[in-house]
Amino acid sequence: MKRNEVPVEQTWDLTLICKDSDKAWKMLDEAKEIAEKIEKEYKGKLTSAAAIVDCLHLLEKMSVLEGKASSFFGLDMETDYSNSAKVADANKAFSMMNEMETVTSFIESEVVNADAAVLEEAIRTGGTVAHTIKKKLRAKQYLLSPETEKVLTALGEFMGTPYTVYNQAKLSDMRFDDFTVNGKTYPLGYALFEDDYEYEKDTDVRRAAFRHFSDKIAQYKNVTAAAYNAYVCRDKRMAELRGFKDVFESLLFPDEVTRELYDRQIDVIMEKLAPHMRKYAGLIKKIYKLDKMTYADLKLSVDPDYDPKVTMADAEKYIAAGLAVMGDEYVEMIHRAFKERWIDYATNDGKCTGGFCSSPYGVPASFILLSWQGRMADVFTLAHELGHAGHFKECNAAQGLFDTMVPRYFVESPSTINELLLTGYLEKTNPDPRFKRWVLGCTVGKTYYHNFVTHLLEAAYQREVYKIIDAGGSVQAETLSGIFKDILTKFWGDAVELTEGAELTWMRQPHYYMGLYSYTYSAGLTISTAMSKRILTEGAPAVEDWKKALRAGSTVNPVEFAQMAGVDISTEKPLLDTIEYIGSMIDEMCELTEQLGF
Ligand SMILES: [Zn+2]
Repeated sequence: MKRNEVPVEQTWDLTLICKDSDKAWKMLDEAKEIAEKIEKEYKGKLTSAAAIVDCLHLLEKMSVLEGKASSFFGLDMETDYSNSAKVADANKAFSMMNEMETVTSFIESEVVNADAAVLEEAIRTGGTVAHTIKKKLRAKQYLLSPETEKVLTALGEFMGTPYTVYNQAKLSDMRFDDFTVNGKTYPLGYALFEDDYEYEKDTDVRRAAFRHFSDKIAQYKNVTAAAYNAYVCRDKRMAELRGFKDVFESLLFPDEVTRELYDRQIDVIMEKLAPHMRKYAGLIKKIYKLDKMTYADLKLSVDPDYDPKVTMADAEKYIAAGLAVMGDEYVEMIHRAFKERWIDYATNDGKCTGGFCSSPYGVPASFILLSWQGRMADVFTLAHELGHAGHFKECNAAQGLFDTMVPRYFVESPSTINELLLTGYLEKTNPDPRFKRWVLGCTVGKTYYHNFVTHLLEAAYQREVYKIIDAGGSVQAETLSGIFKDILTKFWGDAVELTEGAELTWMRQPHYYMGLYSYTYSAGLTISTAMSKRILTEGAPAVEDWKKALRAGSTVNPVEFAQMAGVDISTEKPLLDTIEYIGSMIDEMCELTEQLGF
């Protein structure tokens, strides 16, 4: 479908942000006026606590307007990259934002260089901007001269170009041809492959789709690798310029995560989860009576015939019931999401693949993008995205804008916990062993697979890439494919045959253009696994702890956040517990399969 053929009820309602594009441009003009006012009234004058606090409040006001307007245009673009007018509008909005940020870039240096007593008073009287002053001070030693910072901010707009190139190649230029299996012709597309064919029961069709998909993306491997190389080298250069020890320290710094915590997440899962997942691969092979287990078969669900087709109305019912444990207010938000059209679930040409949730500050709604195929897996995705919505509903209401920049380390906790709560609920609704196996299959095959396998293998790959870059090297398509193949081999061993094209998986995720994002999925899910157990056994008091943690926004670091939820991530115990839990679910599925005999 083309975007203009999509039924309106399948689209999100961006007028919840503002009435129309005229209004959005006006917001940007207003923000620009504030930026000019800030420059005129405060540049060179941030020497008193009152000036610092007032200036930051104005900056906050400017950023809220910018955030709303850029969401209005940016989100519209995400639904159709092939529409050049939408792309042009979004680019214009981003460009205007960049100008404002350049104009106001002096604030950073002037604030951190103010007298200690002035800063102390500013923090004491700062209200919603107090914490951000503390954060700026923490980063002081890595700040460059005001003029250099200004130039870097001005160029910042183009720092994101590798990601734009990646997206344009993938979403606009790549065109998939139909393919034929046993005399029947099938259409192919990026989202169609990832959301549909990877789960296809018919082995000939599934493997043929994988081959045709891989052949097509391979034609773009060099342009994609060049864009990616530029991106990672940029990270390295910035780390050097700012005086970080290495690129890892620089990338982990904003989240206040130690290298130890980061490495542990990757190393422990690579080593300890692998045996369980190999067993899982064996189970899939057995259930489908496959001649061999290949990379193209890994997404198969344990019981596809049991997998009911679901409508959006079903999804609403499942999710509302599954998350009832979170309280009435939470359930009310879920119903609002459906009623007020927060969800864009159409599948159309040019639309961003995958799913995300955006919650612009000061807007009483969130915006969820996904490609709905009517599978139970989509219900889990939706519950996940609504988890992000629930998180930012809490923290946007409790914190000033600057304290809602949540560390990535735990940003996936409030989302993945919803998937686990949904599982917990479904398990209780039906004692039938086949149903039980199917629910476990959803949890392992989707929630844990996605976060602990897909994204973790990407994280392991990404770490190798950055090691090369950090040592002064560069990466090309061959290097990247080589690294990815090594990681896959190390994890799957002999249990899975790596189909040709598996090594190109590095081309498929946008996350590589967002710093060290990939490893945080399993980190977030480690916290949410422990927390969901608490909620399902303790009920309300645990929910209260959780909501308190959500409200804290970015005023807490990952270790403190987990602590508020009653989880100690300073040791490897929660991670080992989670892996053991995954293993126990796989064992149970194996037993149920024996019992069921199919
Ligand atoms: Zn998420």
